[in-house]
Amino acid sequence: MITTAFSGSLFIVAAPSGAGKSTLVNALLAQEPGIKLSISTTTRPPRPGEQDGVHYHFTTADDFVARADRGEFLEWAEVHGNYYGTSRLSVEQEMKNGTDILLEIDWQGARQVKKLFPDAAGIFILPPSIAALEERLHKRGTDEPHIITRRLLAAGGEIAHAPEFEYAIINEEFNVALSELRAIVKATRARFAQQAARNASLFAQLGIHAHQPQS
Ligand code: GDP
Ligand code: ADP
Ligand code: 5GP
Repeated sequence: MITTAFSGSLFIVAAPSGAGKSTLVNALLAQEPGIKLSISTTTRPPRPGEQDGVHYHFTTADDFVARADRGEFLEWAEVHGNYYGTSRLSVEQEMKNGTDILLEIDWQGARQVKKLFPDAAGIFILPPSIAALEERLHKRGTDEPHIITRRLLAAGGEIAHAPEFEYAIINEEFNVALSELRAIVKATRARFAQQAARNASLFAQLGIHAHQPQS
């Protein structure tokens, strides 16, 4: 476990492919300053319109494995036949600077991150039905039919891990789901430990000392 004090909060968002995770996260980032999305490294080929360094850092399997061996990833996993990983350095640096970081990662990565950062807020996005998931993947129009089939087949496996997360959001009405996501972010930021880390001098002036023993 990492014990260094980080003043930034860590959010983990997971979902089966097509649940609306990226759309919700992008809308959240547009409305909430002070929170940054960690850009993962992946061996998946870019979709039309995806830019290197913006949506992902795209790389080869050889390079990915070499970096994983050097310990450059906070977590990594194989998802839908490709490797995905989160950069250790950038997440730790941003969190030390007080920036909140959001990870859009799968359940395997979420498990690894929770071991390192038990206070990370885990959020699982659920679709209103499997039929809606299928419809959204087709409507998004970014993946070949065989890729969509593969992702739909994997959806049950991802959803089976939803109970490992603290929060569940059902993305039926987009705006309702977005307001729930914003509420989770606000509540996490108001946790005592986060407020104390962000407002150290105020807490000292008020005579509040961290880790007071319980009476
Ligand atoms: P999406 O499912 O339509 O968002 O498709 P993507 O290809 O963007 O993501 C595929 C899967 O990889 C999803 O489950 C993501 O949450 C997961 N993923 C993306 N980046 C990472 C990462 O850095 N680490 C891990 N462990 N999983 C990731
Ligand atoms: P993910 O990142 O989970 O794979 P996306 O964010 O790419 O999913 O969303 C998949 C598709 O579903 C996109 O075309 C998106 O516009 C659409 N979508 C997202 N949320 C909703 C919603 N609440 N109702 C209908 N369509 C949605
Ligand atoms: P996509 O290929 O559709 O962009 O992503 C597929 C899945 O990979 C999604 O569930 C996404 O959350 C996951 N994913 C993306 N980046 C990472 C990452 O860095 N680590 C892990 N573990 N999963 C990731």
